[in-house]
Amino acid sequence: MAALPSHRELYVDGAWIPSTGRGTFPVTDPATEAVLCEVADATPADAERAVAAAAAAFPSWSALTGAQRGAHLLAARDLLAERADRLARIMTQEQGKPLRESRNEIDRCLAFLEWYAGEAKRIYGEVLPVIDPGRRQQVIRRPQGVVLAITPWNFPAMMLARKTATALAAGCTVVAKPAEQTPLTALALFEVFDEAGLPPGTVNLLTTADPAPLGAALLGDRRVRHVTFTGSTAVGKLLAAEAAKRVQHVSLELGGHAPFVVFDDADVDLAVDHLLGLKFKNCGQTCVNPNRIFVHAAVRDDFVKRVTAAAAGLRVGNGFDDETEVGPMIDRDGLEKVEAHVRDAVQQGARVLTGGEAHPGPGFWYAPTVLTGVHAGMRLCREETFGPVTPVLEFEHEDEVTEQANATDYGLVAYVYTGSLARALRMSEALEFGVVGVNDNQPGTLQAPFGGVKESGIGREGGRDGILEFLEPKLVSFGLGPG
Ligand code: NAP
Repeated sequence: MAALPSHRELYVDGAWIPSTGRGTFPVTDPATEAVLCEVADATPADAERAVAAAAAAFPSWSALTGAQRGAHLLAARDLLAERADRLARIMTQEQGKPLRESRNEIDRCLAFLEWYAGEAKRIYGEVLPVIDPGRRQQVIRRPQGVVLAITPWNFPAMMLARKTATALAAGCTVVAKPAEQTPLTALALFEVFDEAGLPPGTVNLLTTADPAPLGAALLGDRRVRHVTFTGSTAVGKLLAAEAAKRVQHVSLELGGHAPFVVFDDADVDLAVDHLLGLKFKNCGQTCVNPNRIFVHAAVRDDFVKRVTAAAAGLRVGNGFDDETEVGPMIDRDGLEKVEAHVRDAVQQGARVLTGGEAHPGPGFWYAPTVLTGVHAGMRLCREETFGPVTPVLEFEHEDEVTEQANATDYGLVAYVYTGSLARALRMSEALEFGVVGVNDNQPGTLQAPFGGVKESGIGREGGRDGILEFLEPKLVSFGLGPG
């Protein structure tokens, strides 16, 4: 059992306060279904208070130099480093992922805080070449204002830390709303922001189990100038439609349906190893998860045999056990979706080579699964399964697999395994995805723009592109006048 965060209230204007409605909601351990504690349930009135605080803090925060804002981020980074183990334990407690994965996630938060502390100092503008002798012109980049950050439960620390660090580095202030399954990690992170001395109002946190009215109040406030959202495509579309009414900026990191393509000239050992490293991480509940595994007919039997043996040997259990390789699913809805996808595939002719069933509770457990005989008409080839299920499809030709890999409304990440440089180049250009890993299952890095095309999103997080999302170019033109 982990320590819980000391505060379970809302964090507004530098203070921990109860919800105006005085309501709370329970947080559950997905490994045991035990209620861990209650946290404050924010109301639309709390939205008003949080946005007012963020708007009031904006002028002074945005007036700091980049180096001063960066120093605040580094102070938060240093305190988070001291608390890393505590936060990792809180995350495993409410989210279920193995403690090792939670620790890695906190390490990534530290890296993003440090990276954007540096980027805050590198917000350059442009001096334009003179085309009219009577004018001099420059473009400066100004922070947009109050940013609303809405985050999912699968990476409860990283999504929040990355969005917050980037927006603060740009000079914006933040109102954050974490997922209802994982508010404790968010509270623990905001305890760090508070104790590290971020000025009151620069970051505010609203937890709720009723996101629609709170979201409507937040998005309905004209002082909110940018909505950065990570979550499902369905909710992303709703938020984007709402933001359009006030022409607020949106950046959306949405669902994915990654193809993982293994050619007959690939290093099959590497491909098997990389697939296993990706597929069962976070119990398959990641946006970068390979959802459709296309394997060339010539290497398919060998590949499937090895992946099946490894999947069958994975140790499923409580994330606090050192032996655990795969934790529980987040909740009953998630579990039932996986069950429905596998049932649909089997009814349409798929073969279960291992797994294919839930484990008894308490807790939300699903066995690591490998399916063959999969075809494009099955639900798991069209929708995100978000679970530990590996559907294998067979192909023979490059053109054919390219077309099938692109036959989805999603476009976040794709993976290609090949030993041919020419093929690697062709595939990386032809795949309609925001990120392509070639013989690489970890293409996302701090300094790179990460995000999707098509219905996987708009905008990018990470790198220089990430901070530009929160900056508005402003043209300043100086007329020199006569003489
Ligand atoms: P979700 O159901 O869309 O929820 C995401 C967040 O939106 C949660 O905080 C949720 O609050 C909130 N929300 C839901 N309805 C809302 C509304 N009407 N107004 C305002 N906020 C609202 O997604 P999820 O199930 O938590 O996360 C899984 C999804 O995230 C998957 O589709 C995955 O692919 C995607 N994801 C994408 C990336 C990426 O980088 N592209 C990264 C990670 C995850 P509640 O928790 O209270 O419902």
